[in-house]
Amino acid sequence: MSLKIACAAGDGIGPEIMAATLELFAAAGVTRTAEFVPVEMGAGEFAKGNTRGMSDACVRTVEDCGLLFKGPMETPKGGGGKSINVTARKLWNAYANYRVFKTLPGVETVYSKAGISIDMAIVRENIEDTYGGVEHRLSSDMVQCKRLISAPGSEQVHRFAFETARKLKIGRVHCGHKANIMKMTDGLFLDRFRAVGAGYPEIECADVIVDALCMNLVLRPQQYRMVVLPNLQGDIVSDLVAGLVGGLGFAPSANIGNHISIFEAVHGTAPDIAGKGVANPTSLILSGLMLLRHLCLFKEASVVENALLTTLESGVHTGDFGRKETPPVGTAAFTRAIIENLGNTPTTVPAVPEAAEGDHCFVRPARPTGHQVIRTFTGVTSEVVGCDIYLDSVRAPAELAKDLGAVCEGTPLKLTLISNRGTQVWPTGSVFTECVDYYRVRFESRAGALTQAACVALLDRVAERFTVCSYELLRTFDGVKGFSLAQGQ
Ligand code: NAD
Repeated sequence: MSLKIACAAGDGIGPEIMAATLELFAAAGVTRTAEFVPVEMGAGEFAKGNTRGMSDACVRTVEDCGLLFKGPMETPKGGGGKSINVTARKLWNAYANYRVFKTLPGVETVYSKAGISIDMAIVRENIEDTYGGVEHRLSSDMVQCKRLISAPGSEQVHRFAFETARKLKIGRVHCGHKANIMKMTDGLFLDRFRAVGAGYPEIECADVIVDALCMNLVLRPQQYRMVVLPNLQGDIVSDLVAGLVGGLGFAPSANIGNHISIFEAVHGTAPDIAGKGVANPTSLILSGLMLLRHLCLFKEASVVENALLTTLESGVHTGDFGRKETPPVGTAAFTRAIIENLGNTPTTVPAVPEAAEGDHCFVRPARPTGHQVIRTFTGVTSEVVGCDIYLDSVRAPAELAKDLGAVCEGTPLKLTLISNRGTQVWPTGSVFTECVDYYRVRFESRAGALTQAACVALLDRVAERFTVCSYELLRTFDGVKGFSLAQGQ
Protein backbone atom coordinates (compact mmCIF):
# COMPACT_ATOMS: atom_id res chain seq x y z
CA MET A 1 0.00 0.00 0.00
CA SER A 2 1.69 3.22 -1.10
CA LEU A 3 -1.00 5.82 -0.71
CA LYS A 4 -1.58 7.63 2.58
CA ILE A 5 -4.44 10.05 3.14
CA ALA A 6 -4.45 12.33 6.21
CA CYS A 7 -7.84 12.04 7.84
CA ALA A 8 -9.34 14.50 10.34
CA ALA A 9 -12.67 13.32 11.76
CA GLY A 10 -13.75 16.84 12.75
CA ASP A 11 -16.00 18.11 15.52
CA GLY A 12 -19.66 17.61 16.45
CA ILE A 13 -21.10 14.95 14.12
CA GLY A 14 -17.72 14.72 12.33
CA PRO A 15 -16.46 11.57 14.12
CA GLU A 16 -19.81 9.79 13.54
CA ILE A 17 -20.01 10.50 9.80
CA MET A 18 -16.27 9.93 9.29
CA ALA A 19 -16.46 6.50 11.00
CA ALA A 20 -19.44 5.62 8.77
CA THR A 21 -17.65 6.74 5.60
CA LEU A 22 -14.43 4.89 6.42
CA GLU A 23 -16.38 1.70 7.26
CA LEU A 24 -18.11 1.93 3.88
CA PHE A 25 -14.83 2.59 2.04
CA ALA A 26 -13.15 -0.33 3.79
CA ALA A 27 -16.05 -2.59 2.77
CA ALA A 28 -15.65 -1.38 -0.84
CA GLY A 29 -11.96 -2.28 -0.85
CA VAL A 30 -10.56 1.25 -0.80
CA THR A 31 -8.23 0.40 2.08
CA ARG A 32 -6.46 -2.16 -0.13
CA THR A 33 -4.94 0.83 -1.95
CA ALA A 34 -5.07 3.67 0.57
CA GLU A 35 -4.44 4.12 4.26
CA PHE A 36 -6.31 6.83 6.18
CA VAL A 37 -3.91 8.37 8.71
CA PRO A 38 -5.68 10.12 11.63
CA VAL A 39 -4.60 13.74 12.31
CA GLU A 40 -5.57 16.22 15.04
CA MET A 41 -7.44 19.27 13.75
CA GLY A 42 -10.30 21.39 15.04
CA ALA A 43 -11.90 22.15 18.39
CA GLY A 44 -9.51 19.95 20.43
CA GLU A 45 -6.50 21.84 19.08
CA PHE A 46 -8.12 25.26 19.56
CA ALA A 47 -8.90 24.25 23.17
CA LYS A 48 -5.18 23.58 23.71
CA GLY A 49 -4.56 27.21 22.71
CA ASN A 50 -3.34 26.32 19.24
CA THR A 51 -4.79 29.26 17.26
CA ARG A 52 -4.10 27.53 13.93
CA GLY A 53 -6.39 24.68 15.02
CA MET A 54 -4.00 21.91 14.01
CA SER A 55 -1.02 20.24 15.63
CA ASP A 56 2.49 20.40 14.12
CA ALA A 57 2.29 16.64 13.58
CA CYS A 58 -0.96 17.16 11.65
CA VAL A 59 0.67 19.79 9.41
CA ARG A 60 3.60 17.42 8.72
CA THR A 61 1.31 14.48 7.92
CA VAL A 62 -0.93 16.51 5.58
CA GLU A 63 2.11 17.93 3.79
CA ASP A 64 3.66 14.48 3.46
CA CYS A 65 0.44 12.87 2.20
CA GLY A 66 -0.69 15.71 -0.09
CA LEU A 67 -4.27 14.65 0.65
CA LEU A 68 -6.59 15.55 3.51
CA PHE A 69 -10.02 14.04 4.06
CA LYS A 70 -11.86 15.99 6.72
CA GLY A 71 -15.13 16.16 8.58
CA PRO A 72 -16.76 19.46 9.52
CA MET A 73 -14.95 21.61 12.07
CA GLU A 74 -16.18 24.21 14.47
CA THR A 75 -14.98 27.77 14.05
CA PRO A 76 -14.36 29.24 17.53
CA LYS A 77 -16.61 32.24 18.10
CA GLY A 78 -14.65 35.39 19.02
CA GLY A 79 -11.16 35.21 20.52
CA GLY A 80 -9.48 35.77 17.14
CA GLY A 81 -9.52 32.09 16.09
CA LYS A 82 -9.89 31.95 12.30
CA SER A 83 -11.93 29.35 10.41
CA ILE A 84 -9.73 26.28 10.19
CA ASN A 85 -11.42 25.38 6.92
CA VAL A 86 -10.34 28.65 5.31
CA THR A 87 -6.88 28.44 6.95
CA ALA A 88 -6.27 24.95 5.55
CA ARG A 89 -7.31 25.92 2.00
CA LYS A 90 -5.15 29.03 2.01
CA LEU A 91 -2.14 27.61 3.84
CA TRP A 92 -1.82 24.74 1.36
CA ASN A 93 -2.93 26.71 -1.71
CA ALA A 94 -5.90 24.48 -2.51
CA TYR A 95 -6.97 27.08 -5.07
CA ALA A 96 -9.98 25.44 -6.75
CA ASN A 97 -13.07 24.59 -4.77
CA TYR A 98 -14.86 21.99 -6.86
CA ARG A 99 -18.39 21.05 -5.91
CA VAL A 100 -20.63 18.64 -7.78
CA PHE A 101 -24.41 18.82 -7.47
CA LYS A 102 -26.67 16.05 -8.69
CA THR A 103 -30.30 15.18 -8.28
CA LEU A 104 -30.36 12.13 -6.02
CA PRO A 105 -33.12 9.52 -5.82
CA GLY A 106 -35.09 9.67 -2.58
CA VAL A 107 -34.12 13.32 -2.04
CA GLU A 108 -37.20 15.28 -2.98
CA THR A 109 -36.88 18.85 -4.19
CA VAL A 110 -39.17 21.10 -6.22
CA TYR A 111 -37.06 20.21 -9.27
CA SER A 112 -37.12 16.44 -8.75
CA LYS A 113 -40.90 16.66 -8.34
CA ALA A 114 -41.08 18.59 -11.63
CA GLY A 115 -38.95 15.94 -13.36
CA ILE A 116 -36.01 18.33 -13.78
CA SER A 117 -32.70 16.56 -13.29
CA ILE A 118 -29.71 18.60 -12.13
CA ASP A 119 -26.10 17.63 -12.80
CA MET A 120 -23.80 20.57 -12.39
CA ALA A 121 -20.37 21.54 -11.09
CA ILE A 122 -19.36 24.83 -9.52
CA VAL A 123 -15.67 25.72 -9.50
CA ARG A 124 -14.94 28.51 -7.07
CA GLU A 125 -11.64 30.34 -6.73
CA ASN A 126 -10.54 29.61 -3.19
CA ILE A 127 -7.68 31.90 -2.18
CA GLU A 128 -8.22 35.46 -3.38
CA ASP A 129 -11.02 38.01 -3.58
CA THR A 130 -12.34 39.40 -0.29
CA TYR A 131 -11.25 36.14 1.40
CA GLY A 132 -7.75 37.62 1.59
CA GLY A 133 -9.27 39.10 4.74
CA VAL A 134 -7.37 42.37 4.23
CA GLU A 135 -9.61 44.73 6.15
CA HIS A 136 -9.06 48.13 7.74
CA ARG A 137 -11.00 50.75 9.60
CA LEU A 138 -10.20 53.89 7.65
CA SER A 139 -12.08 56.59 9.51
CA SER A 140 -14.70 56.84 12.25
CA ASP A 141 -17.40 55.76 9.83
CA MET A 142 -15.65 53.78 7.09
CA VAL A 143 -14.18 50.29 6.90
CA GLN A 144 -12.78 48.53 3.87
CA CYS A 145 -12.08 45.00 2.68
CA LYS A 146 -9.59 44.77 -0.17
CA ARG A 147 -10.72 42.62 -3.05
CA LEU A 148 -7.61 41.07 -4.56
CA ILE A 149 -7.77 39.22 -7.88
CA SER A 150 -4.56 38.12 -9.58
CA ALA A 151 -3.99 36.96 -13.15
CA PRO A 152 -2.05 33.77 -12.25
CA GLY A 153 -4.46 32.95 -9.39
CA SER A 154 -7.40 33.25 -11.80
CA GLU A 155 -5.62 31.16 -14.43
CA GLN A 156 -5.00 28.31 -11.96
CA VAL A 157 -8.68 27.96 -11.20
CA HIS A 158 -9.76 28.32 -14.83
CA ARG A 159 -7.21 25.71 -15.92
CA PHE A 160 -8.56 23.29 -13.32
CA ALA A 161 -12.12 23.93 -14.57
CA PHE A 162 -11.25 23.36 -18.23
CA GLU A 163 -9.12 20.28 -17.49
CA THR A 164 -11.98 18.79 -15.48
CA ALA A 165 -14.50 19.67 -18.20
CA ARG A 166 -12.24 18.00 -20.78
CA LYS A 167 -11.97 14.81 -18.68
CA LEU A 168 -15.73 14.70 -18.11
CA LYS A 169 -16.52 15.68 -21.72
CA ILE A 170 -18.43 18.76 -20.64
CA GLY A 171 -18.96 20.83 -23.80
CA ARG A 172 -19.59 24.25 -22.30
CA VAL A 173 -18.12 26.09 -19.31
CA HIS A 174 -19.56 29.37 -18.01
CA CYS A 175 -17.67 32.07 -16.16
CA GLY A 176 -19.90 33.83 -13.62
CA HIS A 177 -18.79 37.38 -12.83
CA LYS A 178 -19.73 40.99 -12.25
CA ALA A 179 -17.33 42.48 -14.80
CA ASN A 180 -19.94 45.03 -15.90
CA ILE A 181 -19.40 46.82 -12.57
CA MET A 182 -15.99 45.66 -11.33
CA LYS A 183 -14.29 46.08 -14.68
CA MET A 184 -10.77 45.61 -13.39
CA THR A 185 -11.12 42.78 -10.86
CA ASP A 186 -13.92 40.70 -12.34
CA GLY A 187 -12.76 41.94 -15.76
CA LEU A 188 -9.37 40.29 -15.18
CA PHE A 189 -11.00 37.09 -13.92
CA LEU A 190 -13.13 36.95 -17.09
CA ASP A 191 -10.23 37.89 -19.38
CA ARG A 192 -8.09 35.05 -17.95
CA PHE A 193 -11.08 32.66 -18.33
CA ARG A 194 -11.17 33.44 -22.04
CA ALA A 195 -7.38 33.24 -22.38
CA VAL A 196 -7.19 29.82 -20.67
CA GLY A 197 -10.34 28.60 -22.47
CA ALA A 198 -8.69 29.31 -25.84
CA GLY A 199 -6.46 26.31 -25.15
CA TYR A 200 -9.52 24.02 -25.04
CA PRO A 201 -11.10 24.51 -28.49
CA GLU A 202 -13.56 21.64 -28.02
CA ILE A 203 -15.14 23.44 -25.04
CA GLU A 204 -17.40 26.46 -25.51
CA CYS A 205 -16.53 29.40 -23.25
CA ALA A 206 -19.62 31.30 -22.14
CA ASP A 207 -20.04 33.97 -19.51
CA VAL A 208 -22.91 35.17 -17.40
CA ILE A 209 -23.34 38.05 -14.96
CA VAL A 210 -23.71 36.57 -11.50
CA ASP A 211 -27.10 38.08 -10.67
CA ALA A 212 -28.59 36.78 -13.93
CA LEU A 213 -26.90 33.45 -13.19
CA CYS A 214 -28.73 33.20 -9.85
CA MET A 215 -32.08 33.85 -11.51
CA ASN A 216 -31.36 31.39 -14.35
CA LEU A 217 -30.25 28.73 -11.85
CA VAL A 218 -33.60 28.94 -10.11
CA LEU A 219 -35.61 29.12 -13.36
CA ARG A 220 -33.76 26.61 -15.56
CA PRO A 221 -30.84 25.00 -13.69
CA GLN A 222 -30.42 22.29 -16.31
CA GLN A 223 -28.90 24.81 -18.76
CA TYR A 224 -25.60 24.85 -16.82
CA ARG A 225 -23.02 22.05 -16.59
CA MET A 226 -20.05 23.87 -15.09
CA VAL A 227 -19.69 27.42 -13.79
CA VAL A 228 -16.43 28.95 -12.58
CA LEU A 229 -16.61 31.98 -10.29
CA PRO A 230 -14.48 34.25 -8.09
CA ASN A 231 -14.38 33.33 -4.39
CA LEU A 232 -17.26 35.23 -2.76
CA GLN A 233 -19.66 34.88 -5.67
CA GLY A 234 -18.72 31.21 -5.92
CA ASP A 235 -19.39 30.72 -2.22
CA ILE A 236 -22.90 32.12 -2.54
CA VAL A 237 -23.76 30.46 -5.84
CA SER A 238 -22.53 27.03 -4.72
CA ASP A 239 -24.82 27.12 -1.68
CA LEU A 240 -27.67 28.22 -3.94
CA VAL A 241 -27.07 25.18 -6.16
CA ALA A 242 -26.80 22.93 -3.07
CA GLY A 243 -30.31 24.13 -2.25
CA LEU A 244 -31.53 23.03 -5.69
CA VAL A 245 -30.49 19.41 -5.04
CA GLY A 246 -31.74 19.16 -1.45
CA GLY A 247 -29.36 21.17 0.72
CA LEU A 248 -25.83 21.06 2.07
CA GLY A 249 -26.27 17.48 3.30
CA PHE A 250 -26.03 16.33 -0.33
CA ALA A 251 -23.23 18.58 -1.51
CA PRO A 252 -19.65 17.30 -1.60
CA SER A 253 -16.61 19.51 -1.88
CA ALA A 254 -13.01 19.17 -3.04
CA ASN A 255 -10.36 21.84 -2.65
CA ILE A 256 -7.76 21.14 -5.29
CA GLY A 257 -4.19 22.42 -5.25
CA ASN A 258 -1.03 21.49 -7.10
CA HIS A 259 0.55 19.94 -4.01
CA ILE A 260 -2.21 19.37 -1.48
CA SER A 261 -5.93 18.75 -1.97
CA ILE A 262 -8.63 18.72 0.69
CA PHE A 263 -11.91 16.81 0.52
CA GLU A 264 -14.62 17.75 2.99
CA ALA A 265 -18.31 17.73 3.80
CA VAL A 266 -19.69 21.24 3.31
CA HIS A 267 -22.24 21.24 6.09
CA GLY A 268 -21.20 22.19 9.63
CA THR A 269 -20.73 20.23 12.82
CA ALA A 270 -24.50 20.06 13.56
CA PRO A 271 -24.02 20.51 17.34
CA ASP A 272 -27.77 20.01 17.88
CA ILE A 273 -27.59 16.34 16.84
CA ALA A 274 -23.95 15.52 17.67
CA GLY A 275 -23.45 12.27 19.57
CA LYS A 276 -27.01 11.08 18.89
CA GLY A 277 -26.09 8.71 16.06
CA VAL A 278 -28.61 10.27 13.67
CA ALA A 279 -26.37 12.36 11.35
CA ASN A 280 -26.55 11.87 7.60
CA PRO A 281 -23.13 10.86 6.21
CA THR A 282 -24.09 11.42 2.53
CA SER A 283 -22.17 14.69 2.01
CA LEU A 284 -18.97 13.21 3.44
CA ILE A 285 -19.42 10.00 1.43
CA LEU A 286 -19.89 12.07 -1.75
CA SER A 287 -16.78 14.13 -0.87
CA GLY A 288 -14.93 10.84 -0.38
CA LEU A 289 -16.05 9.81 -3.87
CA MET A 290 -14.45 12.98 -5.23
CA LEU A 291 -11.28 11.96 -3.39
CA LEU A 292 -11.37 8.45 -4.88
CA ARG A 293 -11.84 9.83 -8.40
CA HIS A 294 -9.03 12.36 -7.80
CA LEU A 295 -6.85 9.32 -7.14
CA CYS A 296 -8.27 7.46 -10.20
CA LEU A 297 -9.81 4.78 -7.94
CA PHE A 298 -12.72 4.75 -10.40
CA LYS A 299 -13.80 1.16 -9.75
CA GLU A 300 -14.20 1.69 -5.98
CA ALA A 301 -15.90 5.08 -6.58
CA SER A 302 -18.46 3.63 -8.99
CA VAL A 303 -19.27 0.70 -6.69
CA VAL A 304 -19.78 2.99 -3.67
CA GLU A 305 -21.79 5.54 -5.65
CA ASN A 306 -24.11 2.89 -7.09
CA ALA A 307 -24.62 1.41 -3.61
CA LEU A 308 -25.44 4.87 -2.23
CA LEU A 309 -27.88 5.61 -5.09
CA THR A 310 -29.54 2.20 -4.64
CA THR A 311 -29.95 2.86 -0.91
CA LEU A 312 -31.39 6.34 -1.41
CA GLU A 313 -33.69 5.00 -4.12
CA SER A 314 -34.98 2.30 -1.74
CA GLY A 315 -36.28 5.04 0.57
CA VAL A 316 -33.84 4.41 3.44
CA HIS A 317 -33.11 7.79 4.94
CA THR A 318 -31.82 9.63 8.00
CA GLY A 319 -34.05 12.10 9.84
CA ASP A 320 -32.99 15.19 7.89
CA PHE A 321 -34.56 14.11 4.56
CA GLY A 322 -36.76 11.57 2.86
CA ARG A 323 -40.40 10.59 2.94
CA LYS A 324 -42.27 11.24 6.17
CA GLU A 325 -44.19 7.94 5.74
CA THR A 326 -40.96 5.91 6.14
CA PRO A 327 -39.40 6.13 9.62
CA PRO A 328 -35.83 7.45 9.58
CA VAL A 329 -32.83 5.33 10.50
CA GLY A 330 -29.64 6.35 12.32
CA THR A 331 -26.15 6.83 10.87
CA ALA A 332 -25.08 3.22 11.52
CA ALA A 333 -28.17 1.62 9.93
CA PHE A 334 -27.97 3.99 6.95
CA THR A 335 -24.32 3.03 6.43
CA ARG A 336 -25.09 -0.69 6.84
CA ALA A 337 -27.77 -0.38 4.16
CA ILE A 338 -25.23 1.12 1.75
CA ILE A 339 -22.70 -1.62 2.56
CA GLU A 340 -25.35 -4.26 1.91
CA ASN A 341 -25.99 -2.63 -1.46
CA LEU A 342 -22.34 -2.77 -2.59
CA GLY A 343 -22.46 -4.46 -5.99
CA ASN A 344 -26.07 -3.35 -6.65
CA THR A 345 -27.10 -0.68 -9.14
CA PRO A 346 -30.03 1.73 -9.02
CA THR A 347 -33.00 1.23 -11.34
CA THR A 348 -34.85 4.56 -11.27
CA VAL A 349 -31.81 6.71 -12.08
CA PRO A 350 -28.90 5.92 -14.42
CA ALA A 351 -26.28 3.76 -12.72
CA VAL A 352 -22.72 5.01 -12.72
CA PRO A 353 -20.86 2.90 -15.32
CA GLU A 354 -18.68 0.46 -13.39
CA ALA A 355 -15.04 1.19 -14.11
CA ALA A 356 -12.35 -1.45 -14.45
CA GLU A 357 -10.08 -2.01 -11.49
CA GLY A 358 -6.90 0.05 -11.73
CA ASP A 359 -4.07 1.41 -9.66
CA HIS A 360 -4.14 4.94 -8.27
CA CYS A 361 -2.71 7.77 -10.37
CA PHE A 362 -1.71 10.16 -7.60
CA VAL A 363 1.55 11.93 -8.38
CA ARG A 364 2.78 15.10 -6.76
CA PRO A 365 5.29 17.71 -7.81
CA ALA A 366 8.37 17.88 -5.58
CA ARG A 367 7.94 19.76 -2.30
CA PRO A 368 8.71 23.46 -2.94
CA THR A 369 11.94 24.62 -1.33
CA GLY A 370 10.63 28.17 -0.82
CA HIS A 371 7.66 30.35 -1.70
CA GLN A 372 6.95 30.14 -5.43
CA VAL A 373 6.13 33.36 -7.29
CA ILE A 374 3.55 32.60 -9.97
CA ARG A 375 3.42 35.03 -12.90
CA THR A 376 1.21 35.75 -15.92
CA PHE A 377 2.34 39.05 -17.43
CA THR A 378 6.06 39.69 -17.64
CA GLY A 379 8.02 42.44 -19.35
CA VAL A 380 5.26 45.00 -18.81
CA THR A 381 6.28 48.68 -18.90
CA SER A 382 4.75 50.67 -16.10
CA GLU A 383 4.73 54.43 -15.51
CA VAL A 384 3.57 56.44 -12.52
CA VAL A 385 1.05 59.09 -13.58
CA GLY A 386 -0.45 60.20 -10.28
CA CYS A 387 -1.77 59.10 -6.92
CA ASP A 388 -5.01 58.74 -5.01
CA ILE A 389 -4.81 59.93 -1.41
CA TYR A 390 -7.65 58.96 0.93
CA LEU A 391 -8.57 61.41 3.67
CA ASP A 392 -10.51 61.18 6.90
CA SER A 393 -12.48 64.42 6.71
CA VAL A 394 -15.99 65.80 7.08
CA ARG A 395 -15.31 69.07 5.25
CA ALA A 396 -17.24 70.06 2.12
CA PRO A 397 -15.67 69.00 -1.21
CA ALA A 398 -15.21 72.59 -2.47
CA GLU A 399 -13.34 73.57 0.72
CA LEU A 400 -11.15 70.50 0.48
CA ALA A 401 -10.40 71.28 -3.16
CA LYS A 402 -9.32 74.83 -2.29
CA ASP A 403 -6.84 73.66 0.36
CA LEU A 404 -5.58 70.66 -1.60
CA GLY A 405 -5.09 72.82 -4.69
CA ALA A 406 -2.81 75.03 -2.60
CA VAL A 407 -0.93 72.02 -1.19
CA CYS A 408 0.02 70.70 -4.63
CA GLU A 409 1.05 74.09 -6.03
CA GLY A 410 4.63 74.02 -7.22
CA THR A 411 4.65 70.18 -7.43
CA PRO A 412 4.52 68.05 -10.61
CA LEU A 413 1.00 66.95 -9.64
CA LYS A 414 -2.35 68.70 -9.93
CA LEU A 415 -5.66 67.97 -8.20
CA THR A 416 -8.05 66.42 -10.75
CA LEU A 417 -10.83 64.76 -8.77
CA ILE A 418 -12.46 64.36 -5.38
CA SER A 419 -14.86 61.50 -4.90
CA ASN A 420 -16.81 60.09 -1.99
CA ARG A 421 -17.81 56.42 -1.90
CA GLY A 422 -16.72 56.23 -5.55
CA THR A 423 -18.90 59.10 -6.81
CA GLN A 424 -17.31 62.31 -8.10
CA VAL A 425 -18.12 65.33 -5.92
CA TRP A 426 -15.53 67.76 -7.33
CA PRO A 427 -14.92 69.49 -9.77
CA THR A 428 -18.53 68.69 -10.64
CA GLY A 429 -21.13 66.68 -8.81
CA SER A 430 -24.62 66.77 -7.39
CA VAL A 431 -25.68 68.16 -4.02
CA PHE A 432 -27.85 65.06 -3.77
CA THR A 433 -24.73 62.91 -3.38
CA GLU A 434 -24.45 62.33 0.36
CA CYS A 435 -20.89 62.20 1.65
CA VAL A 436 -19.29 60.26 4.50
CA ASP A 437 -16.06 61.02 6.37
CA TYR A 438 -13.76 59.40 3.84
CA TYR A 439 -12.70 61.14 0.62
CA ARG A 440 -10.56 60.06 -2.28
CA VAL A 441 -8.55 62.89 -3.75
CA ARG A 442 -6.82 62.24 -7.04
CA PHE A 443 -3.66 64.00 -8.14
CA GLU A 444 -2.39 63.51 -11.67
CA SER A 445 0.77 64.51 -13.45
CA ARG A 446 0.86 68.03 -14.87
CA ALA A 447 3.01 66.69 -17.76
CA GLY A 448 4.39 63.22 -18.54
CA ALA A 449 5.48 60.41 -16.26
CA LEU A 450 6.27 60.98 -12.59
CA THR A 451 8.58 59.40 -10.08
CA GLN A 452 7.22 57.56 -7.06
CA ALA A 453 9.29 59.96 -4.97
CA ALA A 454 7.32 62.95 -6.33
CA CYS A 455 4.06 61.27 -5.25
CA VAL A 456 5.43 60.38 -1.83
CA ALA A 457 6.66 63.97 -1.38
CA LEU A 458 3.12 65.18 -2.13
CA LEU A 459 1.73 62.65 0.34
CA ASP A 460 4.04 64.15 2.97
CA ARG A 461 2.72 67.65 2.23
CA VAL A 462 -0.92 66.50 2.37
CA ALA A 463 -0.26 64.61 5.63
CA GLU A 464 0.95 67.86 7.25
CA ARG A 465 -2.58 69.32 6.92
CA PHE A 466 -4.97 66.37 6.65
CA THR A 467 -5.53 62.95 8.21
CA VAL A 468 -4.45 60.46 5.55
CA CYS A 469 -6.16 57.06 5.68
CA SER A 470 -4.48 55.33 2.77
CA TYR A 471 -2.69 55.85 -0.49
CA GLU A 472 -2.55 54.28 -3.95
CA LEU A 473 -0.21 55.10 -6.82
CA LEU A 474 -1.84 55.60 -10.21
CA ARG A 475 0.11 53.68 -12.83
CA THR A 476 -0.20 52.81 -16.48
CA PHE A 477 0.78 49.34 -17.72
CA ASP A 478 1.99 49.25 -21.33
CA GLY A 479 0.23 52.60 -21.73
CA VAL A 480 -3.14 51.41 -20.37
CA LYS A 481 -4.56 53.07 -17.24
CA GLY A 482 -4.31 50.73 -14.25
CA PHE A 483 -7.03 52.49 -12.28
CA SER A 484 -10.77 53.05 -12.56
CA LEU A 485 -12.56 56.36 -13.06
CA ALA A 486 -15.05 57.67 -10.53
CA GLN A 487 -18.77 57.39 -11.22
CA GLY A 488 -19.81 60.59 -12.95
CA GLN A 489 -16.25 61.32 -14.16
P1 NAD B 1 -24.66 23.09 10.42
O1 NAD B 1 -24.50 22.70 8.98
O2 NAD B 1 -23.76 22.41 11.38
O3 NAD B 1 -26.17 22.82 10.89
C1 NAD B 1 -27.31 23.40 10.27
C2 NAD B 1 -28.51 22.45 10.43
O4 NAD B 1 -28.34 21.34 9.53
C3 NAD B 1 -28.64 21.84 11.84
O5 NAD B 1 -29.99 21.72 12.17
C4 NAD B 1 -28.01 20.48 11.70
O6 NAD B 1 -28.53 19.51 12.59
C5 NAD B 1 -28.34 20.11 10.25
N1 NAD B 1 -27.29 19.23 9.68
C6 NAD B 1 -26.07 19.61 9.22
N2 NAD B 1 -25.40 18.55 8.77
C7 NAD B 1 -26.19 17.48 8.94
C8 NAD B 1 -26.03 16.10 8.66
N3 NAD B 1 -24.91 15.61 8.10
N4 NAD B 1 -27.05 15.27 8.99
C9 NAD B 1 -28.19 15.75 9.53
N5 NAD B 1 -28.40 17.04 9.79
C10 NAD B 1 -27.41 17.91 9.51
O7 NAD B 1 -24.47 24.67 10.49
P2 NAD B 1 -24.28 25.63 11.77
O8 NAD B 1 -25.17 25.17 12.88
O9 NAD B 1 -24.44 26.99 11.22
O10 NAD B 1 -22.76 25.49 12.18
C11 NAD B 1 -22.30 24.69 13.27
C12 NAD B 1 -20.78 24.74 13.34
O11 NAD B 1 -20.21 24.18 12.13
C13 NAD B 1 -20.19 26.14 13.47
O12 NAD B 1 -19.11 26.11 14.40
C14 NAD B 1 -19.64 26.44 12.09
O13 NAD B 1 -18.53 27.32 12.14
C15 NAD B 1 -19.20 25.06 11.63
N6 NAD B 1 -19.16 24.88 10.16
C16 NAD B 1 -18.14 24.14 9.66
C17 NAD B 1 -18.09 23.89 8.29
C18 NAD B 1 -16.96 23.04 7.76
O14 NAD B 1 -16.24 22.45 8.54
N7 NAD B 1 -16.78 22.96 6.45
C19 NAD B 1 -19.07 24.40 7.44
C20 NAD B 1 -20.13 25.15 7.99
C21 NAD B 1 -20.18 25.38 9.37
